[in-house]
Amino acid sequence: MTVAGQQAVRHRLSALPLTHSFADLPPAFYTRLQPTPLRAPYLVCASAPAAALIGLDPSEFDQPDFTDIFCGNHILPQSRPLSAVYSGHQFGVWAGQLGDGRAILLGEAGDGTQAQEIQLKGAGLTPYSRMGDGRAVLRSSIREYLCSEAMAGLGIPTSRALCVVGSDDLVMREQPETAAVATRLAPSFIRFGSFEHWFYHERPEELKILADYVIDRFYPDLRDAARPYHALLREVTRRTAHLMAQWQAVGFMHGVMNTDNMSILGLTIDYGPFGFMEAFDLNHICNHSDQGGRYAYAMQPQIGHWNCFALGQAMLPLIGSVDEVKAALAHYSEDYRLKLDALLHAKLGLRTTQEDDKTLIDAMFALMQATHVDFTLFFRHLCNLQMEQPTSDEPIRDLFIDRPAFDAWASQYRQRLRRENSQDKERQRAMQAVNPRYVLRNYLAQIAIEKAQSKDFSEIENLRKVLAHPFDEQPEHHHYAALPPDWANQLEVSCSS
Ligand code: AMP
Ligand code: MG
Repeated sequence: MTVAGQQAVRHRLSALPLTHSFADLPPAFYTRLQPTPLRAPYLVCASAPAAALIGLDPSEFDQPDFTDIFCGNHILPQSRPLSAVYSGHQFGVWAGQLGDGRAILLGEAGDGTQAQEIQLKGAGLTPYSRMGDGRAVLRSSIREYLCSEAMAGLGIPTSRALCVVGSDDLVMREQPETAAVATRLAPSFIRFGSFEHWFYHERPEELKILADYVIDRFYPDLRDAARPYHALLREVTRRTAHLMAQWQAVGFMHGVMNTDNMSILGLTIDYGPFGFMEAFDLNHICNHSDQGGRYAYAMQPQIGHWNCFALGQAMLPLIGSVDEVKAALAHYSEDYRLKLDALLHAKLGLRTTQEDDKTLIDAMFALMQATHVDFTLFFRHLCNLQMEQPTSDEPIRDLFIDRPAFDAWASQYRQRLRRENSQDKERQRAMQAVNPRYVLRNYLAQIAIEKAQSKDFSEIENLRKVLAHPFDEQPEHHHYAALPPDWANQLEVSCSS
């Protein structure tokens, strides 16, 4: 093993060893099937850092079988393709059975807890496709690819994206678009909805098999807990609360936090109509299909909690008592608050916690809300503030139309910095390590998508590489940190993918 869980062993793709712990679950958990071939596929993009997670050498990207394997046209003999069943609550309403409507698992690559499921998304119809066509479009596949890799760069738990393979075949969305297959990696794609599935079908045996599998494989420390299922719910609740805090702290909005899109491992999964906050608005809704704003930015933490309740209810037959379920969920708000507080202190370069910090932080969000300042640029420019030099504030003041409003808050902030003897240089370094310069702004993704739609794929990799190191200055790439152009106001992202 090398750093960051990357596998030192490099495999040829054809000899990539796959294991099948999920496929070894009873047949009720999935349907075995073959991907539907994609006509005349071509490689759109592939991520070397993601390939390293499964011990795959990037030189394999150039082999013709790479494209064929990752669009489902060539099935590796060592794979056991299947689609998993799950259910879920969508927009707060029980939706019944859903399942992998267009995703096909090939198997798991890598060792032990580092093993990654390899999943083709958009590889054709499955028994769970319902009204869908089993396909994904190039646009949404590129967005998922870029955002997975960007979130990894930000240090936020996420599924990863190995590659996107395209075809000129058309699929119908609001308008005809070309089809694509995105290959995703994660230790597991089991969702809250996977547990809800067995609860609502009154199948306690399967519920137990699923919980035991999850504990055994992904939470081995809980095996010997006095009450393992209680401990599992407690731990998933904690991870979910922490994930929500991490999303809020970078301004990430998922867009569709249905329980079938919530990872049992606390990862960000199922990228659809996501967005990064630009002009700050607590009530911002990134998903055009979410008319009620259920998944607006400010709602995410409480929706995370709601989703944990849905999981808790599903785990009730395992845990045995409502009070125990409640106890496992009870720490969510505190877990969230403490994590967010720590992240915000780091974002503001505060080494200590002091009594009035909440006032300072509340005032900051009120300022951001009143002025709709750009989220990412605000925090990044704040890194350069000098404690005794208000004249150094020009770049950040320029973000505000109401400059006196910023000055008033900045003077409060400076006083607070003085109270802990903050040193400019040291604070700047610490703040730059947690406040990204680069995030996947919608317009940046859109430029890469439009170029890709005319067969120029270069911008996807340019962007991926910049976003892999979002905290580095990368002066040659400063244009990727720019405010969105006017045309970006017209961009809408919806559930259509
Ligand atoms: P999502 O909110 O995108 O995660 O999808 C919700 C459900 O719809 C999941 O069960 C997906 O597999 C399914 N789904 C979405 N789009 C399609 C499609 N084009 N074909 C088949 N199933 C789909
Ligand atoms: Mg989903």
